[in-house]
Amino acid sequence: MEITFTGKRALVTGAGKGIGRATALALARGGAEVTAVTRTQADLETLVRECPSVKPVCVDLADWDATERALKDVGPIDLLVNNAGCAMLQPFLEITQDSFDKSFDVNVKAALHVTQIVARGMKARGTGGSIVNISSQASHRAFKDHAVYCATKGALDMLTKVMALELAPYQIRVNSVNPTVVMTDMAKIGWSDPVKANAMISRIPMGKFAEVEDVVHAILFLLSDKSAMTNGAFLPIDGGFLAC
Ligand code: NDP
Repeated sequence: MEITFTGKRALVTGAGKGIGRATALALARGGAEVTAVTRTQADLETLVRECPSVKPVCVDLADWDATERALKDVGPIDLLVNNAGCAMLQPFLEITQDSFDKSFDVNVKAALHVTQIVARGMKARGTGGSIVNISSQASHRAFKDHAVYCATKGALDMLTKVMALELAPYQIRVNSVNPTVVMTDMAKIGWSDPVKANAMISRIPMGKFAEVEDVVHAILFLLSDKSAMTNGAFLPIDGGFLAC
């Protein structure tokens, strides 16, 4: 199955590191014109050095007004990946208002807002589009110290379904991928302790964490026309964890 994105314009949030960066690079290699959005300028500079065709946009997506200004002139977009996310781990009884608000601002509100900006353009042009939200296995299972993170990803899954419902008449599809642990900078916070990591791995039928490329391949499939009738779905990238 060959997938190409020649002639497509893609926007990836959280493209500075990890899954988002690998997705932006894979889309560019596949022929898409890629806009990479993240909040650390140094990451954008190394990304553009690695792939000069990428258009960098530096903004903190937790800031609604700054996001509006930063994406005002982004131009037509056919493919959107809402990947930016944060994990602030705290025992339930110690969760603060600040960590709750920051987590929901990035993991949920930014995905809603960026999708509004991009999908309004898709609707106006009548050309359709495909949107992938990066959710998690944590939307379906409880993990210790992950109450807020789990809640944000549960909210994102429901947002995916309602977006899929409301945007389908404009031929805009919205799906999510729901990975297990992928050892990026984010995952190192929660899963570097070998005791915790091995306990988690023992619950994954495939007996290992996912690799960044496992997630990227699923994102590319859902962005592409090869998934033309898939809408409102969540795709676990979890070696069977959610099946148990
Ligand atoms: P990383 O921490 O490696 O990368 C996250 C990227 O998002 C960074 O470039 C980060 O920029 C950017 N970002 C975070 N907050 C903002 C913000 N407010 N505005 C703009 N950009 C922002 O994480 P991963 O690649 O691991 O995670 C990507 C997605 O995958 C997330 O949504 C995460 O929840 C999800 N996921 C990850 C899993 C894992 O185990 N790694 C498992 C399941 C889901 P900066 O570094 O400058 O903050």
